Amino acid sequence: MDVKRLLKRIGVSLAILAIPIAILVCNLTGKCGETPPPPPSTSIQTHFIDVRQGDSILIDSGENEVLIDGGGKSPGVVNYIRQYVDGQLEVVVATHPHADHIGGLIEVLKDFQVEEIWLNGDTSTSKTYQEFMATVNAEKATGAKVNYAKKNDIISTGNLNLSILNPPDTLFNETNNNSIVLRLEYGKIAFLFSGDAEKEAEVNMLNTGNKFQAQILKAGHHCSRTASTKAFLAGVKPEVVICMVGEGNRYEHPHQEILTALGEIGAKIYRTDTNGTIIVSTDGEDYQVKTSR
Ligand SMILES: [Zn+2]
Repeated sequence: MDVKRLLKRIGVSLAILAIPIAILVCNLTGKCGETPPPPPSTSIQTHFIDVRQGDSILIDSGENEVLIDGGGKSPGVVNYIRQYVDGQLEVVVATHPHADHIGGLIEVLKDFQVEEIWLNGDTSTSKTYQEFMATVNAEKATGAKVNYAKKNDIISTGNLNLSILNPPDTLFNETNNNSIVLRLEYGKIAFLFSGDAEKEAEVNMLNTGNKFQAQILKAGHHCSRTASTKAFLAGVKPEVVICMVGEGNRYEHPHQEILTALGEIGAKIYRTDTNGTIIVSTDGEDYQVKTSR
């Protein structure tokens, strides 16, 4: 057993021991029920990390953190997320097996104690994917839980609950469309994280009857014309749209017609190539957007 995991086990045992002690103290002092519960954390921060061409999003509620994708191997996100992850990283989601999403997760899984890993069930023959899965299996061997996302499941940690809207039960042939799509509702504010989901997945999500309205949308597939159909945007009704793109990328993302469509619905567009890392903070009532440039 490695040291990280041993320390974690000891931590869990102490926590279990603390419960009877707390009950005993409560009975001795006669002040049972008078201690207020710890205050819930009142705001969360969602970091859309500038990883050049690729996705990496950290949701931080203070006590709990969820990382959706890790960008490519370079530049990596370990140094960035270390500033925010206290203790273990509760949840890592790999939306789909493309290198611009899982490459950076290899280092993350090696560096952090991870509780849960969520995969979309697709495979790849790429070297990056093989290396990624070897790391996932090594984490699994030391106690990390590996889950396969299915529509209607919920990923839950602390006060963060993310509904899974995609992939469907039967996977598409095209791996982008099998991206794990997550909706986070925090009070009155909702986020939609679309991975690289394209039109076919969008149609599927529109037809399921799941809630997918969100004020903040991480647009599918790097704001490519293969995603963000007018019907989907009309359903989501985003006020803020984030395009995760690298400067001068060879796909010419974001595509102009998508920027135009977003302009037509009145959404404010943020782009990691021009704005750098984008942080959206919310207390569940309102939200603020901060950019690094
Ligand atoms: Zn991608």
